[in-house]
Amino acid sequence: MERFIYLDNAATTKVLPEVFEAMKPYFEEQYGNPSSSYTFSGRIAGKVEEARDSIAKFLGAKREEIYFTSGGSESDNWALKGIADAFREKGKHIITTKIEHHAILHTAEYLEKHGYEVTYLDVDENGFVNPEDLEKAIRPDTILVSIMFANNEIGTVEPIKELGRIAHQHGVLFHTDAVQAFGHLPIDVNEMNIDMLSASSHKINGPKGVGIFYLRRNTNIESFIHGGAQERGRRAGTTNAAGIIGTAKAVEIAAKKMEQRIIYERELRDYLIERVLKEIPYTRLNGDRELRLSNNANFCFRFIEGESLMILLDLSGIEASSGSACTSGALDPSHVLLALGLPKDIARGSIRLTLSEETTKDDIDYTVEVLKKSVERLRSMSPFYADFIKNQN
Ligand SMILES: *Cc1c(COP(=O)(O)O)cnc(C)c1O
Repeated sequence: MERFIYLDNAATTKVLPEVFEAMKPYFEEQYGNPSSSYTFSGRIAGKVEEARDSIAKFLGAKREEIYFTSGGSESDNWALKGIADAFREKGKHIITTKIEHHAILHTAEYLEKHGYEVTYLDVDENGFVNPEDLEKAIRPDTILVSIMFANNEIGTVEPIKELGRIAHQHGVLFHTDAVQAFGHLPIDVNEMNIDMLSASSHKINGPKGVGIFYLRRNTNIESFIHGGAQERGRRAGTTNAAGIIGTAKAVEIAAKKMEQRIIYERELRDYLIERVLKEIPYTRLNGDRELRLSNNANFCFRFIEGESLMILLDLSGIEASSGSACTSGALDPSHVLLALGLPKDIARGSIRLTLSEETTKDDIDYTVEVLKKSVERLRSMSPFYADFIKNQN
């Protein structure tokens, strides 16, 4: 039997059957536009507000502080561009980190082209931002600090509460890209000093194309999508009722199962990490050993390309992700791994495996065996590895 093992849950997840069922009526009978004023639509608008309410509660927020967008990328764009616009008179300095998702990094680069100044904080060898570095980087003209909750490549979970506290101490707004953490870790926006938060439905078994944006009440921000008066006049576009209602269902399920899922995934993850580090030589775990997402394992195998390894895994029915991005035909090592201080040749040999609650121990055993064989095979073709072994002896 052909195997199919999906170990790329940080890239996207499957829509749960309960989520699909919750959405279905809003494609079929209940297709009205929630903004119309007849009863047919009013009922749908009511359901959307219920969804908003339950997502707000999940974050410790108020209903009117939750906005729906088209995804994590839009929420990230809105936070940076919307604050930059609204605060341009106060200052043009933004602080973020070197390990953010491209939705943040490329938006920051765009703002740099338009006269803003951005400080990209360094991280340590495990991917942690040092709160002292943040404190030192804040200036009188700093208008925003944006630091991700958990990293999508290496899984490291940042000290968000402390970072938010420092931003607030200096009167600066604090945004977090929580796309990987949302639904996977407990989050309370008030306790954790968060003014803005980005999340995405498709990373937690919801539909693609639905994002969440938490915005603290009375925060001054410019709209990002202009048009109709949806989302209290702040985000135009006909309300995606089905997507929003499906997202609320996904959040409800994630909340209910969070604790048991963390325990289950962590045990499998640790089993995977231990076996790989023990059974495959010249291998490194990327990200912190403990303070990492419960489903994330990221390794560098020396003397090989992550991209080639990914292809071999794929041939054996295992879907994983290599950190490298293929731009202009050359493989660029991941910006996150370079920020950890890894040399380029080592960073190129990375693979990310992200589990789900459906992953079994048998899946992991099979994956470790395929990894061992594939790494060995690729190394046997590497002149660098041959040289290395010769020099060892
Ligand atoms: C996936 C991801 C995004 C983008 O979210 P989309 O909903 O796919 O636009 C942003 N940030 C992080 C950390 C992510 O993992």
